[in-house]
Amino acid sequence: MTSLDVDSAVRAPIAATDEDVVSIARGRGKIVPLVFDSPHSGSNYPGDFNHVVPTDKLRRAEDMYVDELFGSAPARGATLIAALFPRSYIDPNRSLEDLDPELLAENWPDPVRPGEKARLGHGLIWRLCPPDMNLYVEKLTPEAVRSRIDCYWQPYHNTLRGALDELYRRFGAVWHLNCHSMPSATRGPFLNGGGQADFVLGDRDGTTASPDFVHFVREFLRGMGFSVKLNDPYKGVELVRAYSDPVHGRHSLQIEINRALYMDEMTFERLPGFADLQGALDRLIGAICGYIR
Ligand SMILES: [Zn+2]
Repeated sequence: MTSLDVDSAVRAPIAATDEDVVSIARGRGKIVPLVFDSPHSGSNYPGDFNHVVPTDKLRRAEDMYVDELFGSAPARGATLIAALFPRSYIDPNRSLEDLDPELLAENWPDPVRPGEKARLGHGLIWRLCPPDMNLYVEKLTPEAVRSRIDCYWQPYHNTLRGALDELYRRFGAVWHLNCHSMPSATRGPFLNGGGQADFVLGDRDGTTASPDFVHFVREFLRGMGFSVKLNDPYKGVELVRAYSDPVHGRHSLQIEINRALYMDEMTFERLPGFADLQGALDRLIGAICGYIR
């Protein structure tokens, strides 16, 4: 993708196959039970999205380039999964119950339990583009919501769960890094001051990974000179919750990277430091592989 062109987001047809929705690159060489997933870096905007917000505004919600930043994972034996669709269309990092009833033209037949994110307009399907622009003119039909779940959310989860389960069966334990980026600005409804740190790790207050693993990742990043916060302000949401079970050897950790380290947040251009950050993350991946072995 060229970095300057906001229209470089692909206007994709409605997904026909799972390969249009999620990419998976499996580890090569000596396989490690380690999975990286990037649920928010996708930029194939489905043809039936029908949002009324300008695409360049919507693109600010992408975790742009995060899949690329972790691109060396497969060469080190780890699996790398990435969503190809944008999180503003449907967010894989939300539960199916986190659905905002205000979005829908008719009653939704399944149970809903909209949480804080849905209340702010950023649940499973977004109602608002940050800070407060309505994404749609009309409410969505239940059929449209069902199609987003079945054709995008579900294949993403199937791919991630499948990769984690396969490695768990083979090795008896699995480690999962759920990868994101955060805006550097320190004010706004979405920001909460996280931009002050280079990285924010989230283990939902110690519930999704062993403290030893979290400590290892934090200290390795600090050792490379980065500032790191834990669970402040980002604790991790659905993906680290859904697939973690540290007591039984399933460890999930969310990692948020400050966008100011690698991109111009206004123009979307990569900064000269992009390759350096990629190199630092490659060293982190290598270190985690060593930790696991
Ligand atoms: Zn994200």
